[in-house]
Amino acid sequence: MNLIDGRVVAENVYAELRDEIAALKKQGLTPGLAVVLVGDDPASRAYVRSKDKMCRELGLHSVKLELPENTTQADLLERVAELNRDPAVHGILVQSPPPKHIDEAAIIRALDPAKDVDGFHPTNIAKLALGDSSGFVPCTPLGCQRLLVNHGIEIAGAHVVVLGRSMIVGKPLALLLMQKAKGGNATVTVAHSRSKDLPGITRSADILIAAIGQAQFVRQEHVRGGAVVIDVGINRIDDTSNKRGYRLVGDVAFDEVAPKTSAITPVPGGVGPMTIAMLMSNTVKAARLSRSEPAGHTSR
Ligand code: NAP
Repeated sequence: MNLIDGRVVAENVYAELRDEIAALKKQGLTPGLAVVLVGDDPASRAYVRSKDKMCRELGLHSVKLELPENTTQADLLERVAELNRDPAVHGILVQSPPPKHIDEAAIIRALDPAKDVDGFHPTNIAKLALGDSSGFVPCTPLGCQRLLVNHGIEIAGAHVVVLGRSMIVGKPLALLLMQKAKGGNATVTVAHSRSKDLPGITRSADILIAAIGQAQFVRQEHVRGGAVVIDVGINRIDDTSNKRGYRLVGDVAFDEVAPKTSAITPVPGGVGPMTIAMLMSNTVKAARLSRSEPAGHTSR
């Protein structure tokens, strides 16, 4: 079994980005990312802090907008419009989930697709489906693909089973890996909570990617010997031996499954570090593309 270390691959991504950022800065362009947080959910706050920290480490322009819980939809739309117009901001991310009174889909639609570095705007989802590489691919799927490519795992012709069909992970990941392009050309099956005979489906995978949000759901019987397993899940389970009272586990029962695999990601330290690395990568891409297109346009 070969451990796929997301921290190491993320460092490779950052090394490449540092070179590109230095080159862009020489041309007078500093890539900028704005992260908008509404409310004070502690987990969201921690995510926003780590994104801001990484921007600063890479020398990116970072805008952190922390808005109160009672921010209205209209106020938030106005802040998004301001960021759309700001030429120093190339990427905008509105941290999910927003408070319940906010219509998240409407906020995403209000983003300039050219600054939608999360890749959730309908224009970017359409570009992914169309195989148009000028769009932005959601960060977690992009991170999964990069892990496979970096480890020399053959995707073309492989049977990939994606467990989960969310718009954040499962669906865009399936589109990405079936693309007729480098890092694609897989035969993809997407399974979900209504799928029949899940172990039968997942056992047919050369590459199994679990993204269901169910702690340690994937067991030995779900995995064919020699398969590659990518675990996207991040779940808290009680652990009295840990001073926080919990620990993080994936959607895969790692200790049981790992010995059967040819390669597997751990949780934490697998897909997680890649998500933020790909956010930085999408921000640099947005800055690069902004050179050829006027900032603030909404035609894409
Ligand atoms: P989600 O929106 O809740 O979607 C879960 C998907 O899994 C749904 O399609 C659901 O099926 C399916 N599912 C749930 N239980 C199932 C079961 N028992 N059998 C088969 N399918 C089942 O979750 P998500 O946002 O995609 O996130 C999934 C996991 O990835 C979570 O643990 C999340 O924390 C983690 N995550 C990690 C990162 C990272 O950076 N590492 C990023 C994003 C998410 P239905 O559609 O039929 O309901």
